[in-house]
Amino acid sequence: MARSLPAQVDVTAEVPEQYWACRSDGHWNIRIPNPDNGMPTFGLYRWLVCQRCNRMVRQTIHRGSEVFASRTFYPPGYLVRGMGQVNRKEFRRALIKTELAAEGLSLPAEKSLGTLVTPITKPIRRRR
Ligand SMILES: [Zn+2]
Repeated sequence: MARSLPAQVDVTAEVPEQYWACRSDGHWNIRIPNPDNGMPTFGLYRWLVCQRCNRMVRQTIHRGSEVFASRTFYPPGYLVRGMGQVNRKEFRRALIKTELAAEGLSLPAEKSLGTLVTPITKPIRRRR
């Protein structure tokens, strides 16, 4: 059963920022040649690697292109032991804050991600 973290835990403090986009929006996979030339007992291996975070997946493909098994290899720091399954929303929130900050904007403090369609608070411009 998937566990979620208490709301007060800042998972983004535990996971490097370079992984937030994949944790929020998913991986950018491309297929790569079999890196170790290994072969399963039946079928074949199909390797995928994420272009953003270098997470690798080795799929065992059987007849009919079915994925019979899959093994995932995460880059260091991607997973946080003991934190269970983390909601994508935690990382999306951090990403959005970072993206807005880069534009000199901020999320209204009382707004949740579910209300992001509301107008964004613009910075107060100081007079010189
Ligand atoms: Zn990724």
